[in-house]
Amino acid sequence: MTKPAYAKPLPELTVPMKPYWEGLRQRRVMIQVCEDCGRFRFPAASVCPQCLSDESHWEQVSGKGRLVSVATFHKAYWPSFAADIPYSVIQVELDVGVNVYSNWFGSPPAHAAEGTPVVAQFEPVSDDITLLKFQLTE
Ligand SMILES: [Zn+2]
Repeated sequence: MTKPAYAKPLPELTVPMKPYWEGLRQRRVMIQVCEDCGRFRFPAASVCPQCLSDESHWEQVSGKGRLVSVATFHKAYWPSFAADIPYSVIQVELDVGVNVYSNWFGSPPAHAAEGTPVVAQFEPVSDDITLLKFQLTE
């Protein structure tokens, strides 16, 4: 039995973000780091916003972080999200200090306040794309 094609919008696999998406496919969270000042940054950029260095590398991070905010959508701006209404978009600060936007992995938690610890989960949606999602830390 073949899995139906993923109907929601998918990210573009741009060159600067390739290590991030490749990492997620391997169930690893990879974040770009400035070679000169050591600052983590997301999304990837060719120049460090802090020290303007153009030297960088990528590091695997823990995938642990804390919940910053939750926005609940009650309207389907994309038809493919209609069955999910209401759904949440969450902002998470990873423990290396960068913010990512995501969704809950599986069912949303009954209660999740700002600062609640969360941990990365990996949701493959196509051959090329695995999405980063989060759940509460056990
Ligand atoms: Zn820098």
